[in-house]
Amino acid sequence: MENLVILRDLQATLDYLVTINRELSALPPDLAALDARVKATEKQIAEKTKALETARAQIQVKSKELTQAQKDEERARAAVKTTSQKVHYTAAIRELDEKERLKASVSKPLKALESLVLTLEEALAFLETERAAAQAQFDELHAVFLDEHANQVEGRKKLLSKKSTLEAKLTAAEVTRFHRLAGARQGRAVVPVENGACSGCNVKLRGPILFQLKEGKTLLTCESCQRTLFLP
Ligand SMILES: [Zn+2]
Repeated sequence: MENLVILRDLQATLDYLVTINRELSALPPDLAALDARVKATEKQIAEKTKALETARAQIQVKSKELTQAQKDEERARAAVKTTSQKVHYTAAIRELDEKERLKASVSKPLKALESLVLTLEEALAFLETERAAAQAQFDELHAVFLDEHANQVEGRKKLLSKKSTLEAKLTAAEVTRFHRLAGARQGRAVVPVENGACSGCNVKLRGPILFQLKEGKTLLTCESCQRTLFLP
């Protein structure tokens, strides 16, 4: 039953950590606003970066198309020069017209893409500057905030170290089970029995389970929610 002591201690440690983390993440309005600005800018940067990658990929495709269109056009132009018979000449001119039109239809969107890339690159450079400025401002104010909450910062450090120490006393499977359960059950993996019921899910415990709990020989879990149980 040594495990139960460790698990209860781990649960208490986790509870304190949740409280401290809540206090440390409750940023004052100015800091919260800066944090939101950094995140919003990062989102914009991600969107523009994606658009930039797409545009660059399209440019590659269109460039190849343009190269081909240019070759076709040159060939048509050469044909016009070497044709002497009038009938063939008219056909060659028509062919050249067609190839010129094709080339223009590729080069126009390519130019648009190239100017889009430039616009995106400029916007990204601007956003990067914005993000860095907001981040620097945030870091500065956040350092002050953490100074003002030195107790919590110190407490968190101690709790994290205690958590590691406790986890080291359990098997890897036990640690995994604990955290999976805590994650799925509002952070509570180990709960006391209250009025003959599991205080995690409020389901009444069967007589034999209560009896075994009183005996205190084995680790028992709630049959309904799988939380580890203990008698307070
Ligand atoms: Zn339960």
